[in-house]
Amino acid sequence: LELAAGQVATALGNARAFEAERRRAEALAELDRAKTAFFSDVSHELRTPLTLLLGPISDVLADPGAPLPDGAREQLTLALRNGQRLQRLVNDLMDVAAIEAGRAAAVRVETDVAAFTTELAGVLRAAAERAGLTLTVDCPPLPRPVFVDPRMWEKVVLNLLSNAVKYTFVGSIAVTQRAAGDQLVLTVRDTGIGIPAAELPLVFDRFHRVQGSVARTREGTGIGLALVRELVALHGGSVTVDSEPGVGSTFTVTVPFGSPDATPEDGAPASP
Ligand code: ADP
Repeated sequence: LELAAGQVATALGNARAFEAERRRAEALAELDRAKTAFFSDVSHELRTPLTLLLGPISDVLADPGAPLPDGAREQLTLALRNGQRLQRLVNDLMDVAAIEAGRAAAVRVETDVAAFTTELAGVLRAAAERAGLTLTVDCPPLPRPVFVDPRMWEKVVLNLLSNAVKYTFVGSIAVTQRAAGDQLVLTVRDTGIGIPAAELPLVFDRFHRVQGSVARTREGTGIGLALVRELVALHGGSVTVDSEPGVGSTFTVTVPFGSPDATPEDGAPASP
């Protein structure tokens, strides 16, 4: 009898411990949901006033004949540039929040990704040349149809390329895109400042910026690569980085060619 009582006590103890553990897990999950909701609500609330603030400023600046007091054009330009930076951060945060909350899915459509990536690289060419860098693009037509979410692909390419421009002081940036088996492989290589080995596993973390380096002399928020990693993962792919300080960095994105998630409703061409 004594033995049985002991067993019952142990079983009761186990059940209580199990129940406590379950409650803790539930509380944590709830906290996580609340955090994600807060993150997304705040980002949303920031977006509207920013739009209303920046609209009039850019309208005034767009009119070269607008009568402005001395120095006002420069001040407004500075305000606009910083406001736009904040706007990009808010948009990126909203994207990350939506993905983390499981509210974002890639809608893959057949995309002429050779032309698309080339076009996106063209968007950054002027900025690269202004910085005294050369930008080469080698994205030949692919042997098979490729299905990506164009809006997401655009963010992946533009984030990697703008980092390459931002963190390269001399030399060149090379964008290449190839098929390898049934995967699409995009690389963005630069001859920039590079990333120390110890930082490599961290650069894709949200808000992570390389400590105390020349990188800090460049504006940034540490959200770009986190977003790239999430967007690539939504395509069932991965992103890696190879880098050597003082020599340069190569970011490689690999995604399966994929299959369509949706066909464009209006029958318009799939590529943007
Ligand atoms: P941000 O550029 O806004 O700081 P990212 O998430 O895009 O944020 O990048 C995180 C960090 O990784 C950067 O702060 C920088 O230290 C480093 N990094 C990213 N891309 C490069 C690159 N091409 N060359 C050198 N360092 C880079």
